Amino acid sequence: MRIALIAHDGKKADMVHFLSGFKKELHQKEVQLFATGTTGSHIEKAGFNVTKLLSGPLGGDAQIAAMAAQKELDLVIFFRDPLDKHPHEPDVQMLMRICDVHNIPLATNPAAADLIFKFITIKP
Ligand code: PGA
Repeated sequence: MRIALIAHDGKKADMVHFLSGFKKELHQKEVQLFATGTTGSHIEKAGFNVTKLLSGPLGGDAQIAAMAAQKELDLVIFFRDPLDKHPHEPDVQMLMRICDVHNIPLATNPAAADLIFKFITIKP
């Protein structure tokens, strides 16, 4: 299970809080975490092993989109902040589009991510 994690600045604390609820499941060796740079640093500080890509505004979202297009990801969790402006909005839209093109599950808020995590951790 290869999971990409991205959180806009206003949602980084939510991302860490969300992941902390699934610590045991996410520490299994078959789970691989990838994240945009700053999100990854926050996740790392919370005690997770994560491969950090570029920061979102510098191309991190585009890197994750490329991974999704190459079927190198099984799930994308992207906690967007709908109340803030983002200089890399075109990349954000592109990532979501690529997930839809390649049918990669995409959760854009904790409620959706929680449902997906609960489902995949129950499954054998
Ligand atoms: P960041 O990028 O994790 O480097 O902050 C996230 C984003 O804003 O796309």
